[in-house]
Amino acid sequence: MRDMAVERVGYFGEFGGQFVPSELKPALDHLAEFFLVTKDDPDFQEELQYYLREYVGRPSPLYYAKRMSEELGGAQIYLKREDLNHTGSHKINNVIGQVLLAKRMGVKRVIAETGAGQHGVATATVCAMFGMDCTIYMGEEDTQRQALNVFRMELLGAQVIAVTRGGRTLKDAVDAALEDLIANYENTYYMLGSAVGPYPYPDIVREFQSVIGREARTQIQEKIGRMPDYLIACVGGGSNAIGLFAPFYDDQSVQFLGVEPGGSGEQIGQHAAPLCFGEPAVLHGFRCYTVLDENGEPAETSSVAAGLDYPGVGPEHSFYHASGRAKYVAVSDQEALDAFGLLSRKEGIIPALESAHAVAQVLKLAPTLSPEQTIIVNISGRGDKDAAQVYELLRKIKS
Ligand SMILES: *Cc1c(COP(=O)(O)O)cnc(C)c1O
Repeated sequence: MRDMAVERVGYFGEFGGQFVPSELKPALDHLAEFFLVTKDDPDFQEELQYYLREYVGRPSPLYYAKRMSEELGGAQIYLKREDLNHTGSHKINNVIGQVLLAKRMGVKRVIAETGAGQHGVATATVCAMFGMDCTIYMGEEDTQRQALNVFRMELLGAQVIAVTRGGRTLKDAVDAALEDLIANYENTYYMLGSAVGPYPYPDIVREFQSVIGREARTQIQEKIGRMPDYLIACVGGGSNAIGLFAPFYDDQSVQFLGVEPGGSGEQIGQHAAPLCFGEPAVLHGFRCYTVLDENGEPAETSSVAAGLDYPGVGPEHSFYHASGRAKYVAVSDQEALDAFGLLSRKEGIIPALESAHAVAQVLKLAPTLSPEQTIIVNISGRGDKDAAQVYELLRKIKS
């Protein structure tokens, strides 16, 4: 993009920042300022808590997975049930917060990018609830792969624009949404779907997803009277993981484990694991670990879980990785599929394929721990959306 403007605000160590065209800076600065004065405002908080309780159904349970804990024969495993939220994942926490910001800014039009369609559906949902005009940018390729989610968004009253430039996927949708914002920022709110993007988005998304960790911290103390030993969450852009981790940041005894999609192998193009296999670069307006190809460009990535299929990762995770506060590992498509089946059979909970990555890491770690130790794993979403895909995969393997 043109006219790179860089500023040392909104950094996590050397990561983050605001690498955007100068035309975009006024909109981001206004948003940053508005967010800072609004987030702790008692009226705003009261409204946010109301919708989280009455519409999303929070708090989500912290459920003791007795059968799985016994089966693995090591640590006690607790599931943070974000799959039970309205619309079936953690994404609603963020869009509720952001739509309330937009409403207070006096904006009536919301735009968003979406890849697989999950964030687009969440955005369309809250726009319907608040009577906001909603436009979703989606790569044309993705609109074909995820036709049902396009229908869901339209059913919810949103307009879905199929982006036909470039590779016609998420990256092109982000570019189109940013151009819309540059042209219309006075009456338009850009709702970003993960803890990524230029400042202030990583801060905003972390704030609204931290409800996960704040609840879990209270719930685990009520249940076992002390802190957990491990927190485990899958990492795409990193919003569900940062939401779980951040409220435990100062609890030094609590270890953070982020799980990236290892896909089908360690070659470029086979995975989407920037913290495990990438290097620092600027992507979509911020600096983060990025999966790069041989020309130093953001690489093609792949994962069985569409929601994790992104070449970059949030700046705060990049910082946690560089500073050692969190560890990041990759699990393969196959391991995630095995975990998807195991949690379904052992606990009667069908997890999203994204969340199944976190569960797969639990299957590896728990048996190496003692029964006095405790793991909290975030079940970021439910797996109904993935049942047809897994059915097809298993059918192919059998035949
Ligand atoms: C979108 C999504 C993810 C990945 O996004 P993060 O920002 O990394 O949390 C994970 N799980 C589910 C269910 C999702 O829909």
